[in-house]
Amino acid sequence: MAASDISLAELTRKAAKPDRWDDPMDPNMTDADVEGLMAVEPFCVMDEKAFPSSMPLREILRADTAIRSYQPGEIVVRRGDYGTSAYLVLGGEVEVILKPHLDPRLLGRAATEKKKGFVSRLAQLWSNNPEPEGWDEASLRVSDDFKNSVNSEDNSVFLQDFPRVISTTETAKLHEGQMFGEISALSRMPRTATVVASAQGTRLLEFSWQGLRDLMRYDVALKGQIDSNYRKYSLSSFLAKLPLFSHMEVNSPQFHALCNEAQLETFGDYGWSGEYKKLAAGGDPDTKATEPLVVKEGEYCNGIHLVRAGFCRVSQKYGGGERTLKYIGAGQVFGFDDVVRQRVNPEQDAVSLFTLRAMGYADLIFIPTATLVRYVPSHLLDADHAAVDPQGKKPSKKARARQGDERIHPPTKLMEFVAEQRFFNGTQSMVIDMDLCTRCDDCVRACASTHDGNPRFLRHGPMMDNLMVANACMHCVDPVCMIGCPTGAIHRSSHGGEVVINPASCIGCTICANNCPYDAIRMVEVRTKKGHFWVDEQQKPLLKATKCDLCIEQASGPACQNACPHDALTRSDLSQENSLIQWLKKR
Ligand code: SF4
Ligand code: SF4
Ligand code: SF4
Repeated sequence: MAASDISLAELTRKAAKPDRWDDPMDPNMTDADVEGLMAVEPFCVMDEKAFPSSMPLREILRADTAIRSYQPGEIVVRRGDYGTSAYLVLGGEVEVILKPHLDPRLLGRAATEKKKGFVSRLAQLWSNNPEPEGWDEASLRVSDDFKNSVNSEDNSVFLQDFPRVISTTETAKLHEGQMFGEISALSRMPRTATVVASAQGTRLLEFSWQGLRDLMRYDVALKGQIDSNYRKYSLSSFLAKLPLFSHMEVNSPQFHALCNEAQLETFGDYGWSGEYKKLAAGGDPDTKATEPLVVKEGEYCNGIHLVRAGFCRVSQKYGGGERTLKYIGAGQVFGFDDVVRQRVNPEQDAVSLFTLRAMGYADLIFIPTATLVRYVPSHLLDADHAAVDPQGKKPSKKARARQGDERIHPPTKLMEFVAEQRFFNGTQSMVIDMDLCTRCDDCVRACASTHDGNPRFLRHGPMMDNLMVANACMHCVDPVCMIGCPTGAIHRSSHGGEVVINPASCIGCTICANNCPYDAIRMVEVRTKKGHFWVDEQQKPLLKATKCDLCIEQASGPACQNACPHDALTRSDLSQENSLIQWLKKR
């Protein structure tokens, strides 16, 4: 073969393979490692011929897995963390901690967040440091249990007093050949349990979610096993919480049949935040064109789609283009009105009146109409219930009246803005009415005075007409900042679910700041109260991640909002357009 042919073949191979293979999960994975993996289950029983030449089984193992070694007591995953990896036990064993749940301090989290009392709040007014980020030792001190548990060379974290902890909790052991973490990795849900290595020489194979997805795509047995676990442990609890199925007995044969008839669908790219960042950096985050189509207006669709995780855009043809009607997130349903319409007028074709697209990433469950008819009481599928479905909802008198009010933006314009900027992800976005804001900076000062002399937000951000969404943590539904924090320092608070950072266990690695699609995390060099930098053993300044914590310690709530003398600033759940419209209407 001529040299030019070889390079052409190589070029063709490179063009066909996924980009992620240029950056393998473990650059040290050798041919011998891949051979070794091919000798163990489940890979030894997979049919290599079922994998396409552009995605051979061995290449998936080489690019999308890593062999990791663990010491007894080393934490593999923490309950409540978000993660994109699944694990297979290659050797040794791990313990899954079932109950009681571990003290948060053992996992690098802050102890239960307490509201500051009146005296502390008063003291905070005069104890502020002239230097920003003047932190006292207590706030940086790692809890005694967590101290020394982080290995600074590889950021591994150990559960302190592991034998005692294990002897006082109910656990399940997992041995060679058993897998864990796959449901959380594939459905972007928080980990439901903490898993700790418990034997010398424990070796785990870590899969990226993309690798696991591709293995499932071409290996029927693995897909069947993971689907079955998903239906048993995750889907059933999700469906049981929905009003449509709440009348069903969870252990009944009918409910099991419902779970089996539900079809699991995943659309879009899990790494949407990275893509969004690139698009936003390019100046025009118009991502509609790249959103995977789930249902197209006018095409056959005989059932409903339930959103399990992620977000979708519902749109309809308008003039020569399309307009967004709404975006739906976890627990919301698409297609209910079409099902009802079809039942009322069976002679009509089962076509959708709307288009549904995954925004970034969406994990959906499709329930066919026949299944709905079989398990949902008929009165819930009549026209009255369709009327309460948001897609078919007629605007109320109040909503129509509002549209005549010049201060209120047409809902579709606001929706387009929120959707294009991906703000539907935020439950507590900071919105400022710039017509009312006098730029007095009282909000900024209030935030600084409650947070070590440095505000935790920037008073600028994307604008739609007079509304600005400021650069502050939005406390997202899908907090991608939490993926990969090695110490568990960034976490959801156990009370309100706010995304907070425990400064004591933050090691300043910047992973969270790089992951946040909204640039809401700032890395700061922290100082003593006297203004000197805190330094590590190598005399390097200590770096900590900081962001809006929604004033979790302030009994009166967000200081920025309370400080605004003009009621120009609010914290709003932008996935619920009405909450913002109500605020605008009130003033
Ligand atoms: S830091 Fe970013 S990703 Fe994390 S919750 Fe806040 S806005 Fe969302
Ligand atoms: S910088 Fe962020 S990801 Fe790294 S340890 Fe701190 S909180 Fe965790
Ligand atoms: S809620 Fe508190 S921490 Fe967040 S921006 Fe407002 S004042 Fe700052």
